[in-house]
Amino acid sequence: MISTMIANVRFFVNGQWESPEREMHPVTNPATGNVIAQVPYAADADVDRAVRAAHDAYLQWRDVPVVDRVQPLYKFKDLLEKHASELAHTLSAENGKTLDDAKAEVRRGIQMVEVACGMPTLMMGDSLENVARGIDSHTIRQPLGVCVGITPFNFPCMVPMWMYPFAIACGNSFILKPSEKVPLTPNLAAGLMVDAGLPAGVMNVIHGGKSAVDALMKHPLVRAVSFVGSTPVAKYIYATSAAEGKRVQALGGAKNHLVVMPDANIEKSVEAIMSSAFGAAGERCLAGSVLVPVGSAAGPLLEALLEKCRALRIGPPHDPSTGMGPLVTADHCKRVESYIEKGVAEGATALCDGRDQKKSSGFYLGPTVFDNVTPDMTIAKEEIFGPVLSVIRVETLDDAINLVNSCPFGNTTTIYTSDGKSAREYATRIEVGMVGVNMAVAAPMAFFPFSGWKQSFFGDLHAHGKDAVGFYTEQKTIMTRWF
Ligand code: NAD
Repeated sequence: MISTMIANVRFFVNGQWESPEREMHPVTNPATGNVIAQVPYAADADVDRAVRAAHDAYLQWRDVPVVDRVQPLYKFKDLLEKHASELAHTLSAENGKTLDDAKAEVRRGIQMVEVACGMPTLMMGDSLENVARGIDSHTIRQPLGVCVGITPFNFPCMVPMWMYPFAIACGNSFILKPSEKVPLTPNLAAGLMVDAGLPAGVMNVIHGGKSAVDALMKHPLVRAVSFVGSTPVAKYIYATSAAEGKRVQALGGAKNHLVVMPDANIEKSVEAIMSSAFGAAGERCLAGSVLVPVGSAAGPLLEALLEKCRALRIGPPHDPSTGMGPLVTADHCKRVESYIEKGVAEGATALCDGRDQKKSSGFYLGPTVFDNVTPDMTIAKEEIFGPVLSVIRVETLDDAINLVNSCPFGNTTTIYTSDGKSAREYATRIEVGMVGVNMAVAAPMAFFPFSGWKQSFFGDLHAHGKDAVGFYTEQKTIMTRWF
């Protein structure tokens, strides 16, 4: 096993690994329930030390030409490729997603770094000669200073990489405060950043919970806050950071609908729906959570879906035959179970019940599919973030669009159909930021923005793609006249 997995988790500040004596919290392996590490929670003094170090580093780093700033990122990408397997194993061990899924996450993270390496082009401004007689004008993009990232448990490799490669390539310094549930993967990646030759203080990692986040948001030297996590916390981060005068982007939770038209290819749609709803045990912000069969689609769809659910193998994430691993923590597993209890209590019909597949150790649940769900039920409204799929049957495409548009969240949705007109109408009218047509998970590639809407996003500029460049830079417009 990997040595970091039994050690106390450290902070990485100003180029040094630190083991401060702080309140420690256990990190568990979801497959076994065993404690695999202890994570210290940063005190205000740790936050202040990290921010000051990051600020000092920024004052040097911003003047390094962008073509030189991306050189450590090229090396970082190379090191990520070399250590991809170690990263995926660590990720799988602390998060519980299958090894294949963990490898795919690492790949997605690497793609972020690849795009950030294009910063010399991405950061270019605009120019126009002779805006008035003899006067030329151009814009430049300048870094902000110390940027902060606060990230969730479900993508400990990729989500931080939506942030720091872009921020750093733009000339900022960065402090990552990853989820306290999965601190090992972000530390492993940060270590590679150091090996890639990044100057001390440009990249820092501290650990902790709410108090560390509050101290970061309130620190006068922090200029920008990027957050990914649940909607209540996203709202809090957005409001607090904005009140503190910071630039902020806060990506929140989701309730994603999968609409199946009667003309859909049932076999291929069911494959995609299985992956969407039960991939990573439903712990994805892009996971399908409400299945909406239109008209006659319901019968054949549910029959094929249940057959796949029965065949889905629940087991340890490192076993290649496992289709779905455990949930991240005992508490989260209990929370998901409580939603299943609510579904039953509110009158939905459990076609299969994930509680039947609990194991004596580890935080396992099988897939749950609820039929006869109505829009007013708790399981239809709230984010469950587990392997629970609610079926709401509708008669027409219009009904489906109205149902989806009445949802307060707007992260992603997919329509399954063989009719281009229905697909186009759905994509045009739907009030959701990321739309799939016959897709499992419509996750935008690194060069596009991750563009949730409504209660799934608070801010203006989204994560990665060109939006990240806008978020991590300030524009300056210069007008020039020579006599
Ligand atoms: P979470 O909101 O509990 O935690 C996210 C981060 O915020 C963690 O680093 C945590 O330490 C910190 N935090 C928690 N409570 C806080 C508080 N009261 N004040 C300040 N900081 C606090 O989320 P999670 O359970 O780690 O992750 C799952 C959630 O993230 C789901 O809701 C999921 O939809 C969402 N998510 C969204 C996206 C997206 O792109 N929209 C991507 C991944 C995950």
